[in-house]
Amino acid sequence: MDHIYDLIIIGAGPAGLSASIYASRYKLNHLIFGAEFGGQMNEIKTIENWPGETKISGRDLIQKFFEHVENYGVKIARESVVGISKLENEIFEIKTSRNNYRAKAIILAMGAKARKMNIPGEKEFIGKGVSYCATCDAMFFREKTVCVIGGGNSAAVVALELTDFAKKVYLVSKEEKMSAEPIWLERISGNSKIELIRKTGVLEIKGESKVERVILDKAYNDENNLKVDGIFIEIGTEPGIEIAQKIGVEIDTQDYIKVNSDMSTNISGIFAAGDITTGSNKFRQVLTAAAEGSIASSSAYKMISLK
Ligand SMILES: Cc1cc2nc3c(=O)[nH]c(=O)nc-3n(C[C@H](O)[C@H](O)[C@H](O)COP(=O)(O)OP(=O)(O)OC[C@H]3O[C@@H](n4cnc5c(N)ncnc54)[C@H](O)[C@@H]3O)c2cc1C
Repeated sequence: MDHIYDLIIIGAGPAGLSASIYASRYKLNHLIFGAEFGGQMNEIKTIENWPGETKISGRDLIQKFFEHVENYGVKIARESVVGISKLENEIFEIKTSRNNYRAKAIILAMGAKARKMNIPGEKEFIGKGVSYCATCDAMFFREKTVCVIGGGNSAAVVALELTDFAKKVYLVSKEEKMSAEPIWLERISGNSKIELIRKTGVLEIKGESKVERVILDKAYNDENNLKVDGIFIEIGTEPGIEIAQKIGVEIDTQDYIKVNSDMSTNISGIFAAGDITTGSNKFRQVLTAAAEGSIASSSAYKMISLK
């Protein structure tokens, strides 16, 4: 407890791990806390936009990040941070589920989690047909009919991923035109298992002991009931800001941490990186998370070396 780290990084996804690689090179004595090692990377079946890798699974790529971090002898602790407070002399206390730690600077890289729809039946059927992770659950829907709810890149990717298993995939999007990248839209339209239901929302999920159908807000083929065995909800993510909010870190109206171009927040000594921030024009990707992590470390180093 008496030891004071230069830096503590909260989050073991691409932002936190990249921050650590740079911190090691700046010789910052630091620790990483990660509730779930790898973060959202565990859910990505294949990444095709990480430079240098034409096709790699999220798990394989994040494993490379881990090896790189550990190569510098840095410790990654599988602990959840439950609170942060500021002590005298500009030192922070970081409270985890097991212990308390001290540091001169903090990088918040807690990323984001799947956004919920909050419709009737959603909570009740989680694990009984409702899923937020196709990479984890797609194989349970072999030769079944499923629907994916959402209109962005992840909805498109998940719909395509599901066609490896399901016999039919409905892609239900509220928009007239999906916002997914053209490359995904092209692959969707070329896949005969995927049927796009546009300008339609899902009001409710129904079934006895497991999912049997969803209720659409508009008739499709003269029916508001769409029979499905599984539902994959892909309507974006929500940042994990609770501990940041408690210490007074400024948040925008959509709950993302406001950062300056050097990844500093409104609290001196607290930086943020990755999906949790308003940075990178809100383009939330592995590449931008890694870049923000590197900038946050460089800024923490500058702050510490000026003290
Ligand atoms: C299905 C899917 C497909 C995707 N496909 C792509 C793609 O093809 N290409 C691409 O570039 N991006 C893709 N993304 C987006 C990409 O995964 C994210 O932008 C990236 O992972 C963000 O990294 P991050 O480090 O900011 O956050 P995350 O990956 O969310 O990691 C956050 C970390 O913080 C930890 N954490 C949270 N709270 C605490 C706490 N209180 N204490 C300790 N640790 C905590 C978590 O356990 C985790 O380790 C995809 C995402 C999903 C879900």
